[in-house]
Amino acid sequence: MTDINFQRAALQLLRDCQSAGLTHLPPPSESLAVPAPSEVLQAAPETIPENVHEQDISNETLEAVVNTTPENTLPPENRVAALAALSASVSQCERCQELAETRTQAVFGVGNPDAKVMFIGEAPGADEDKQGEPFVGRAGQLLTKIIEACGWTREEIYICNILRCRPPDNRNPTDEEANNCREYLDGQISIIEPDYIVCWGSVAAKNLLNQETPIGRMRGKFFEYGRAKVICTYHPSYLLRNPAAKKPVWEDMKLLLNDMGLTPP
Ligand code: SF4
Repeated sequence: MTDINFQRAALQLLRDCQSAGLTHLPPPSESLAVPAPSEVLQAAPETIPENVHEQDISNETLEAVVNTTPENTLPPENRVAALAALSASVSQCERCQELAETRTQAVFGVGNPDAKVMFIGEAPGADEDKQGEPFVGRAGQLLTKIIEACGWTREEIYICNILRCRPPDNRNPTDEEANNCREYLDGQISIIEPDYIVCWGSVAAKNLLNQETPIGRMRGKFFEYGRAKVICTYHPSYLLRNPAAKKPVWEDMKLLLNDMGLTPP
């Protein structure tokens, strides 16, 4: 890795840790190796005692702490650390050579680590690649309006994409890239354990649920992914080009809210 790439990766790691809620770092250990996602996800689930020393957190929590049974979900403080560890792996990932060479930074995901609802989009665009956060461009602003129309804030839910790196010229992700990045997506789902997932657009729906059905025929009903109920609807960027599609999206949001026992505003 070149010095520039190393600096970029180090900055990304610090930003990821900060956005994941870490306020300080443990003292340096002998090994600075970042755990692979599989290591992060395979470690035994353990609750970190309150009096554990900071130095131990990197060895235990960051090895992480994933339990997918509804009876024993991760406490929020462990979710933050597990997400930070996974994010650190993503920031250095070079599985998709073209994307790793052309990205400004990897875009891991943002939001509530204890979210009941997870939003999954397609891939970072130019704005997201610059800012390191998903859904911040024009489509992201529309998504924020949809979130607020549902009575939520962006901070209440968790937002990520099928891919964590921007495809050049915003082309669709290839199957190979989506497969490469699937371990990270499944890691985020396993850590957060959302009750509901919304797939925004055909790329998210197709890849998460392994379906070839057009998005227009997938919307308006629930699918299952693990313990989560999944709704698929049109991508906000499609709504920018086709405002008439806002109505079916709002119907999908109302279906979601009703199933959650919430009254649509
Ligand atoms: S898109 Fe995902 S798998 Fe591909 S290089 Fe980026 S982080 Fe790695």
